[in-house]
Amino acid sequence: MAYTKIVAAVAASLTMAGAAWAQDYPSRQITMVVPFAAGGPTDTVARLVAEKMSGDLGQQVIVENVGGAGGTLGAGRVAAAEADGYTVLLHHIGMATSATLYRNLAYDTLNAFEYVGLVTEVPMVITARKDFEPTDFAAFQEYVKANADTLTLANAGIGAASHLCGMLLMQALDAPLVTVPYKGTGPAMTDLLGGQTDIMCDQTTNTTQQIKGGTIKAYAVTSPERLDLFPDLPTAAESGLEAMQFGIWHGIYAPKGTPTEATERLSTALQTALADEGVAKAMADLGTAPEPAENATPAALKAKLESEIARWKPIIEAAGVFAD
Ligand code: ASP
Repeated sequence: MAYTKIVAAVAASLTMAGAAWAQDYPSRQITMVVPFAAGGPTDTVARLVAEKMSGDLGQQVIVENVGGAGGTLGAGRVAAAEADGYTVLLHHIGMATSATLYRNLAYDTLNAFEYVGLVTEVPMVITARKDFEPTDFAAFQEYVKANADTLTLANAGIGAASHLCGMLLMQALDAPLVTVPYKGTGPAMTDLLGGQTDIMCDQTTNTTQQIKGGTIKAYAVTSPERLDLFPDLPTAAESGLEAMQFGIWHGIYAPKGTPTEATERLSTALQTALADEGVAKAMADLGTAPEPAENATPAALKAKLESEIARWKPIIEAAGVFAD
């Protein structure tokens, strides 16, 4: 009897502690790790939502760029971080592809994280330096096939979205280009603008201004339909490259064991950020859109990650491109 009372008292006090914790959360700044360099497309998305989430949470959400190893370095940092609700990861489709691309990842993708929600899905554009010869996508394909051994393809490392897109492009054209990895496509874009590299496939969140300004050339998009932003650009699929149809979905994760109260609070803040008109406008200007509230949830992100690992696994295994 006495024992039962003690157990009940302990349980009650733990519940109260949990409730107090939940009420106080967040009581200090939150770090949002972006697994790519500053100035790139993932960084752009993170900074947009972090600012609005800060307003909703009443605490700063600070973006920290931890680039390297195609995004797996930053993801590993968060997997190993304290599960206290004060460290999160904003990653993209690479979270799913790296689970197969790396056979010795430092973390077990499906068991190392809690989920906050989906953020946005961004189309990619196949681009090249400004003075690249081909004038349309058909000519681009011929030119790349004929000059594969001398052309360079920039990417953000194995596991990056630019890597996936480049891999599918090289496969479709049977053209093994020389790939040049960067810590993110922010720095890769600097080299594309400077003409030090020839081709890059990257999100509209990093390429829109340059395409509009004529400082790089664009040939095709990976979305199922043409984009309102660039109606003259064909989809890769309509040009015969059916395998190149995908969006770069982004999600927010927390280390495994992060209290549900925290992930749910973060999810609510994410939904508030995504409902903000300024965020929607900024995203629209960059060729994308916020996910609706029902997708900015832990369950939706978990389901997306699981289905995307299953989608890309056989494709990557057939391509035989592994990082290790
Ligand atoms: N767009 C990059 C990628 O290829 C990453 C980045 O710099 O945001 O995954």
